[in-house]
Amino acid sequence: MADTLSPAERSERMSRIRGKNTKPEMKLRRLVHGMGYRYRLHVHGLPGTPDLVFPARHAIIFMHGCFWHQHSSPECRLARMPKSRINFWRSKLKANVERDARNLASLEAMGWRVLIVWECEMKSPDVVGQKVRDFLEQQP
Ligand SMILES: [Zn+2]
Repeated sequence: MADTLSPAERSERMSRIRGKNTKPEMKLRRLVHGMGYRYRLHVHGLPGTPDLVFPARHAIIFMHGCFWHQHSSPECRLARMPKSRINFWRSKLKANVERDARNLASLEAMGWRVLIVWECEMKSPDVVGQKVRDFLEQQP
């Protein structure tokens, strides 16, 4: 698919994709809330400002946008590289992935358990729900 967006349009779209309170994140929050779990949102004191934090369980869930965080699953269609400014995107996205890895290592070193839910996984909420339940019910 050709990249038909102007730089301004792309940047607007990217800021929406990147932002908190995105659609997949809201879907995940509703799902987890509906399962009876309570959490804190976007905790700024923790590396990576985790999306959902369950302090008593020492557990954290990130909702990762497949593009921004470069979901590496071969089935993922959302992580594909834009067709223009390839070097720009490559280095930017690489920096994101490296930052994610650093944040994950810091959180684990602090004693947090971390689950990543990918944007494209929200197409199967039942599967995600089961994964979240298994994760949260694990004994720390
Ligand atoms: Zn994905």
